[in-house]
Amino acid sequence: MKYTAIENFINGKFEKSSSQKKLDVVSPLDGSLLSTVPLSNASDLDTAVSAAKKAFVTWSRTPIKERVQVFFRLKTLLEKKLQELAALCSEENGKTHGESVAEIEKCVELTEFATSLPQLISGEVLEVSRGVECRTEHAPLGVVASIVPFNFPSMVPMWTIPNAIALGNCMIIKPSEKVPLSCGRLAELLKEAGLPDGVFNIVHGDVEIVNAICDHPGIEAVSFVGSTKIAKIVYQRATQQLKRCLALGGAKNHLMVLPDAIPDMTAQNVAASMSGCAGQRCMAASAMIGVGNVDQIIDKICEEAKKIVPGQNLGAVINKASKERIENYISQAEKDGAKILVDGRNAKVDGKENGCYVGPTVIDYVTPQMSVATEEIFGPVISIMRTKTVDEALAIENANPYGNAASVFTQNGGMARYIIDHASAGMIGVNVGVPVPREPFSFGGWNESKFGVGDITGKSSIEFWTKLKKSTTKWNPEAGINWMS
Ligand code: NAD
Repeated sequence: MKYTAIENFINGKFEKSSSQKKLDVVSPLDGSLLSTVPLSNASDLDTAVSAAKKAFVTWSRTPIKERVQVFFRLKTLLEKKLQELAALCSEENGKTHGESVAEIEKCVELTEFATSLPQLISGEVLEVSRGVECRTEHAPLGVVASIVPFNFPSMVPMWTIPNAIALGNCMIIKPSEKVPLSCGRLAELLKEAGLPDGVFNIVHGDVEIVNAICDHPGIEAVSFVGSTKIAKIVYQRATQQLKRCLALGGAKNHLMVLPDAIPDMTAQNVAASMSGCAGQRCMAASAMIGVGNVDQIIDKICEEAKKIVPGQNLGAVINKASKERIENYISQAEKDGAKILVDGRNAKVDGKENGCYVGPTVIDYVTPQMSVATEEIFGPVISIMRTKTVDEALAIENANPYGNAASVFTQNGGMARYIIDHASAGMIGVNVGVPVPREPFSFGGWNESKFGVGDITGKSSIEFWTKLKKSTTKWNPEAGINWMS
């Protein structure tokens, strides 16, 4: 085992879970054993909540300009440790080194945004009648929780950590049991940046600890990122306990390619979007709809896909079960009558026989009813459908229950605007394959890709992580009284 057994991080220290249950943490790159992760229980959570509650008393009263100093220092540390953090991310998640570097760079950007929060949350004040003033302030909620998925071991945690904490909350995070190492490293860096003990805590585990988080009376708000199936469970359970909840779910993102799209640029973008992070991005292109004759562009997509080689510029998928699931989708499409133009099944990487690799896969002549057209595959696979008109393409896009992203490739501005207006998705790309809004714009889908109000990052997250306090004051020095009559 390369690393020592993972422990929870509570009140500024790593400590053993009181549960004996644990899982192996295995690298998808080569199947090697990295560590073990504890499956914590409700008693571990109690300890973490008590520590966070205690820390909240001082942290919430610390002025925000002082709180964000931690994140100025964290930003510098992340930049300094970028290569080390990227290597750890690749090891536990299976991404290429370049993809992991990009992930840590995004963490830097997210941290930088948090340092601007004092500029964004100043309240409002107005003299509402003579001598009477109303003012608003953003108050922190208390102890909050963040439950995160496997596909971005550092970035998705950092969607929530800097903003929630800079806004005065104390946090308990539950990392994915598949990639628990990166969060531990973030905890060390937060401490090194000067975050007081108890403000940030990690409790590892799986379903048991997620349920305990939803039920715990000491936790005010729960943010969740993961599959739609679990997002629904968490949203229902947390709100049943009257907690604030924002739960981001899965996706099935459609790219619409129009005949006037620039062929080379479109092909490169489609191939990069479907295969980046081995297709394990909630913003990945999973379905493409060719409107009219786009055969020439499809040929180029295949050429681009063939340049993407597992173990070189394509990472591994998270585990064997995932590899099998993705390959079954491809086989099912073939049985259903689709044509596999580029086949990524049975990919092997020399010297990494126990790695979990799937090659880039391009499937053509998919019909809207096939499982590869409707379900989230979460692998480097693109399913191509064809329509005669943009409205037919939009009808397919809008019939899918998700609503994270949709993109269009065209040179026609009017058509692009029409698609922005009519696509039922929260994040739209025009000639952009992965339309993730960058800070200060917020991240969040629609429909079954997100449950709850607001977005998880950017300015929108301020509303989720704070509550508004309204005070009304009467200044009446002449009368010598200080309260409203
Ligand atoms: P997942 O839903 O399996 O797991 C997410 C979290 O929920 C993990 O921490 C896991 O331990 C926990 N969990 C798993 N099963 C549970 C259960 N039965 N009850 C309670 N908690 C449970 O997701 P994943 O496989 O880790 O991540 C991939 C999914 O996340 C994809 O569907 C992807 O689209 C989605 N995702 C969405 C976004 C977004 O912004 N919408 C971002 C990243 C990933």
